[in-house]
Amino acid sequence: MKRASRYGLSVALLLGTRPSFAKPVSTLTGIRISQSAQEHTRVVFDLTADIKHRLFTLADPHRVVVDLEGARKSEAIAVSRRKTSLLSGLRSASKGNDRLRVVIDLQGKARPRSFTLKPDGKFGHRLVVDLHATNLSPTPIKTSQQQRSQRKNYFVIALDPGHGGRDPGAIGKGGTREKDVALSVARKMKTLINRTPGYRAVLTRDSDRLVKLRNRVKKAREAEADIFVSLHADSFHKSYVKGASVYALSLSGASSEAARWIAKKENASDLIGGISLDDKDDMIASVLLDLSQTATIQDSLELGSDVLSQIGKVSRLNNRKVQQAGFAVLKAPDMPSILIETAFLSNPTEEKKLRNPKHQHKLASAVFSGIREHLKNRQV
Ligand SMILES: [Zn+2]
Repeated sequence: MKRASRYGLSVALLLGTRPSFAKPVSTLTGIRISQSAQEHTRVVFDLTADIKHRLFTLADPHRVVVDLEGARKSEAIAVSRRKTSLLSGLRSASKGNDRLRVVIDLQGKARPRSFTLKPDGKFGHRLVVDLHATNLSPTPIKTSQQQRSQRKNYFVIALDPGHGGRDPGAIGKGGTREKDVALSVARKMKTLINRTPGYRAVLTRDSDRLVKLRNRVKKAREAEADIFVSLHADSFHKSYVKGASVYALSLSGASSEAARWIAKKENASDLIGGISLDDKDDMIASVLLDLSQTATIQDSLELGSDVLSQIGKVSRLNNRKVQQAGFAVLKAPDMPSILIETAFLSNPTEEKKLRNPKHQHKLASAVFSGIREHLKNRQV
């Protein structure tokens, strides 16, 4: 199912073929544009094979240049003709025999970020270019406008210590409570993150209180978090079971909750993969949500696996692969989200380790390393 043609946003451009000498390895078959919010536009390049790309910005007028190495344009390419508050147009030209240059004309200054996605379900290889506004108009509702305008210079990591207040989570034989361990690790991570240039951390709770799952996600979104990490500790009736696990959302669990999420219009920025849903009916809204969530889940899985391999250096792993489940707290469609079960509190050895500040610090550092590893490939 092609989203662009389905909603009449696309137009087929017939282009003359030119003789080609070198062998392009990938064909650009479509370009999709979507706008999630005033300050965010997403451009998706649909490709037949994975490619290398290079991206840079130019001023006067502001534009983003994307060079696709080893790519050529399909003769019948579907290009979204949509304009957004950031994007005013698209142009492309072949550069030599094996490079395709696409120029994204901007309405003003914007910060691009790019990443690639592997084939997944109905989608093939994709290159995603996210444009973020760098100068935002004042929004009186926000507490700090200064914070917003500087915001684009760093990644925001939302840390979500599970449970809290009257919900202790799992409790070990030695009395260790999941809610305390999670908060402890989150605070250590926060310190590490805020000490690192280019990164900021926000906690969804910073005290021993119970926060509703939805409000945790809401808080992260309000902070414009780029990544959401929920921290937990596991428990099982067999005490010998041990090791860490990382979870991402599963699609089957996603759609109903996602549709509900839309229906309730919990958040003004309803933007799902970049499409404003204001003027679409609920059914289309849920389809779009699924599509964009597919991309986010893919991103979450990649994030999860980067984090998992770092945790593996300091802890035993229960699962060597990222697991998928329908955790409500992971259902933010526009923010790669993972849930980490750091260890089993039901295992006496792991309980002891988990309450040790030194081990907590190691864990915090490992998770952050994984996040940085993940974001490194997405930075321009
Ligand atoms: Zn938990």
